[in-house]
Amino acid sequence: MKDIVPENIQHLAPYLPGKPIEEVERELGITGIVKLASNENPLGASKKGVEAATRAAAKVALYPDAGSHYLKQALAGKLGVAPGEIVIGSGSSELIENLVRAFCSGRDEDEVLTYAHSFVMYPIVCQAHGVKLVEAPVGPEFSYDVDALLAKVTPKTKLVFLANPNNPTGAYLAKAGMERLLRELPPRVILAVDEAYREYVTASDFPDLLTMRGARERLFVLRTFSKIYGLAGLRLGYGYGSSGICDYLERIRLPFNVTTVAQAAGIAALDDVEHVRHSQTTNAAGIPQVIAGVSALGLKGYPSQGNFVLVDLGAGRSGQAVFEKMLRHGVIIRAVAVYKLPSCVRVTVGAKADNDRFLSALPACLG
Ligand SMILES: *Cc1c(COP(=O)(O)O)cnc(C)c1O
Repeated sequence: MKDIVPENIQHLAPYLPGKPIEEVERELGITGIVKLASNENPLGASKKGVEAATRAAAKVALYPDAGSHYLKQALAGKLGVAPGEIVIGSGSSELIENLVRAFCSGRDEDEVLTYAHSFVMYPIVCQAHGVKLVEAPVGPEFSYDVDALLAKVTPKTKLVFLANPNNPTGAYLAKAGMERLLRELPPRVILAVDEAYREYVTASDFPDLLTMRGARERLFVLRTFSKIYGLAGLRLGYGYGSSGICDYLERIRLPFNVTTVAQAAGIAALDDVEHVRHSQTTNAAGIPQVIAGVSALGLKGYPSQGNFVLVDLGAGRSGQAVFEKMLRHGVIIRAVAVYKLPSCVRVTVGAKADNDRFLSALPACLG
């Protein structure tokens, strides 16, 4: 096939998803597995969302509403932005890809900028489209260093991806740093802030972009229904930003990218305040539980504003090896060598019993 495949595609390594429970059960012949690998909601989906999805399933003979009209209305009302400032995607991953497709040319004409050790979808998407990705170094404890990012801006920079908070490190850019980025990035550059974990954030100095967005025209904020709303399997994400950005994202997407079932579930899940609150309190209790638990084993658990903790196993230990041993104990976590963190693993924070399972299996897997 090589003769017809462009070079950037030849070298594209496929995205490695977290292992599905059924696959591990089949391979190892065990049951009762707990999956803490993909930052899914341990409490499951919003029940209101699932009920709406079930009702909507009766209508799937017809194509979906191509404009996601009612979902946009619901989001616009909730966020206080205009419907024309919202784009809906088949997961926010689709919007990440469409930002690159819409605004960047390949063959090293344009550059996308992000931080080191950030979401793996950014390099995958850039490589798929032949666009150069530049990584700015992070500071101590994976902190976001605004000067380091600004120093990497060149006349070719078209787009900046900032995961806030970051997956897999859990670090975040506070309000003061965000204010600087909004003002000091050249006006020509699109700043795409990926807020996949926004609903889990507890830090009081976390930036509220809904009130700060006036400071920058070229700002686009990504959100998802895959994490706190528990709808990862339906593929639903959205973004808000200037209508100029949204206009081009609307042109480039495929007409029926979001299913009828996903649209209905999203509308209902947005209203499920109880589920969101319960998920937040479960996570807020689970983060310190996991960090204290790994510290007791002499390991470093990094502070996190997401629903996961990055655990450094110590130099000389392999995250991949610990991941494989944990599988045999029925706990699926995530090795993060692809994030250039070979001695770390990322564990999704579960309900208390899930975290207990992880913490009690871990010591036997460190050897
Ligand atoms: C999980 C995650 C997403 C969400 O992806 P979807 O396509 O919406 O499921 C986006 N960005 C980051 C940083 C994530 O960790």
